[in-house]
Amino acid sequence: MKTKLLLLAAAVGAATAQAKLNVVATLPDFGAIAQEIGGDKIKVTTIARGTEDQHFVDARPSYIRLLNQADVLVEGGAELEIGWLPPLVAGARNAKILSDAAGHVILSRSIHLLEVPNGPVDRSMGDVHPLGNPHFSVDPANGKNIAGALTETFSRLDPANATYYEANLKRFDERLDKKLAEWTKLLEPHRGTKVVTYHKSFDYFLERFGFQLAGTIEPKPGIEPSPSYINALIQRIKSAGVKLVMIEPFRPHKTPQYVAQAVGAKLLLAPGSVGGNEKVKDYFGLFDYDVAQIVAALK
Ligand SMILES: [Zn+2]
Repeated sequence: MKTKLLLLAAAVGAATAQAKLNVVATLPDFGAIAQEIGGDKIKVTTIARGTEDQHFVDARPSYIRLLNQADVLVEGGAELEIGWLPPLVAGARNAKILSDAAGHVILSRSIHLLEVPNGPVDRSMGDVHPLGNPHFSVDPANGKNIAGALTETFSRLDPANATYYEANLKRFDERLDKKLAEWTKLLEPHRGTKVVTYHKSFDYFLERFGFQLAGTIEPKPGIEPSPSYINALIQRIKSAGVKLVMIEPFRPHKTPQYVAQAVGAKLLLAPGSVGGNEKVKDYFGLFDYDVAQIVAALK
């Protein structure tokens, strides 16, 4: 009798666990937003860490097993993950997340991409943004597009909980609108501030808040700078009044520090995604942290 009850309990437990949508997100921002929408109806796992370069993620083979069990795969697209995701998806052999499956979300399709090239870009030139800038989640307004796309997918795959996902989306959007107004107000006095970044990873953020990108430490996305490039960069922007050299904490610090000193700017370590440092734990926290850092640095 006791055994029977235990077995029954285990079966119920398994059924409950199975009912949760199993979501795998490539990047922490996508995983964080998925969690906001999915709440306790989904289980989210994120592949990349916030301290990793999103183009060059350490894609351990253990993720193949994870993807094999996934109901949903959320990726950014625009070739952001092209260097590491395709072998994992191929290895997973899971029809639910193949390219045109309902469980495969390509978020860039819901975003107005910046810096889309007019003509074909030769990848041999090393540019890792051949379809436009894929770092769109650093504009909080794009967070709403991401949340909307995820709500649609979760609702389609799990219609029993559609109203739950819709309610979470509404709450997320309202909170984001309120916070966006707050961040905009805090940064308003600094509109037009000139900034140097390491990679073209903050362009959407700068565009949103009216900052200007004066140059990048990398000569092209994904290409490390030479000393002569850095000297030319300094010559070009020396008299431009650059106030900030803003880099993600995981980038090399030495060259950005050198450039900051040479042009009279402050070096700012700004996470570019959730988990970029230990203080940035969710999508709202990312902007709370970065905006506060910027305001403090420009005081
Ligand atoms: Zn990039």
